[in-house]
Amino acid sequence: EGANRSNKPPVPEFNDEDDGDDRVSAAEASLLNKLIRKSLVESSHHVEILQRDPSSPLFSVKSFEELRLKTELLHGIYAMGFNRPSKIQETALPLMLAYPPQNLIAQSQSGTGKTAAFVLAMLSRVNADCKFPQCLCVSPTFELAMQTGQVVEKMGKFCVNIKVAYAVRGNRLPRGSKIEEQIIIGTPGTLLDWCFKLMFVNMEKIRVFVLDEADVMIDKQNFSDQTIRIQRSLSADCQMLLFSATFDEPLLRFAQRIVPEPNIIKLRREELTLNNIRQYYFECENKEDKYRALCNVYGSITVGQAIIFCQTRKNAKWLYWAMSRDGHQVSLLSGELVVEERADVIQKFREGKSKVLITTNVCARGIDVKQVTIVVNFSLPTTVAGTAAFETYLHRIGRTGRFGKRGLAFNMTEKANLPLLFAIEEYFKIVIQRLDPEDMEALE
Ligand code: ADP
Repeated sequence: EGANRSNKPPVPEFNDEDDGDDRVSAAEASLLNKLIRKSLVESSHHVEILQRDPSSPLFSVKSFEELRLKTELLHGIYAMGFNRPSKIQETALPLMLAYPPQNLIAQSQSGTGKTAAFVLAMLSRVNADCKFPQCLCVSPTFELAMQTGQVVEKMGKFCVNIKVAYAVRGNRLPRGSKIEEQIIIGTPGTLLDWCFKLMFVNMEKIRVFVLDEADVMIDKQNFSDQTIRIQRSLSADCQMLLFSATFDEPLLRFAQRIVPEPNIIKLRREELTLNNIRQYYFECENKEDKYRALCNVYGSITVGQAIIFCQTRKNAKWLYWAMSRDGHQVSLLSGELVVEERADVIQKFREGKSKVLITTNVCARGIDVKQVTIVVNFSLPTTVAGTAAFETYLHRIGRTGRFGKRGLAFNMTEKANLPLLFAIEEYFKIVIQRLDPEDMEALE
């Protein structure tokens, strides 16, 4: 009865075995970001310079021409569609390209142009006529190493004699091989083998050492140790560059072991706000009831695209079935998908090929889909301890103040969970207005 008045097929119940852990590792989150990122993340903040070598140039550039790059490199940059340096690049590039070389620790969130910046630095420092490794770039995962390599190949498209080698699992070269590629990108373990066991690389000749995604790197103990071993064998005048999306004490300690006499620059992340989001709640008995409320929302307002968050995979699947059965164009993003599949789902949603994205927490962070008009919490976000997860709420619903449009958010909650909702109101000093599913007038 109730939920299934018509003669539509019933939605199957999924059992607990469908309920896996949907937490994502730092490496996965970072790769997902790379895969779905098609343009720069905007920023209204200025780059902060935390520490500076007094001899380093303190200026920023507003154009790529000012950097006096090799013509073929400049062509490569323009061919990628870059018109001017990003916020972090304005300050980072003059430092990275200075003579004598300067060391740099740079932090900014994913998507702000760090990779493009160090790729440009590597390509610019390489002597294309010398057929031996001159730049080493360490990445925390195979996939990220491949992604970075693609950027080198794209940006270096017109630098015909510059080549890249990949020191990653599966890429075995016979002992005694001679590496002619000037840029080596790899993961710590394989890179260590190439440098010390197989002696492919003359460490004395490395001019630039890049450590990408240092925050992901220190997640894995032996990666930090391996990276430090590689760094120790470089010559004193090799340029050291380290990048990270986050910056806490452990990271800074690690960074300072890797990068002597660093310049440290930082670009603050855009703050999320709930200010321009109208927020409502429905008090519901069970998931069928929540689904009815959701249908009433669809009946009352025009919804462009929506993201719906479920707490469990089981509920996400159930809702996916129910909405598909009722003719909605829905896609499901859950932890069972590998990163590439997730990126694909998000991409299709971005292109408008599906109108509703149902997800568990996998996509709570980092995914900004600008055209989304409503966000639904099919369950309120909770911590492992069962209290309200404020940060998660903010990440699901919040928009960046300056670039965000107005938005609508709906929370579905059982009576027993109302205290969670009140805690959220209290914490953010906001009002979440109650809606009666049978009377949606208040929405107008
Ligand atoms: P990060 O390494 O900080 O995650 P990326 O270097 O990967 O950032 O850049 C994010 C996206 O922005 C990529 O798609 C990249 O091609 C693009 N991008 C980078 N620099 C610029 C620029 N100066 N102008 C336009 N797009 C850029």
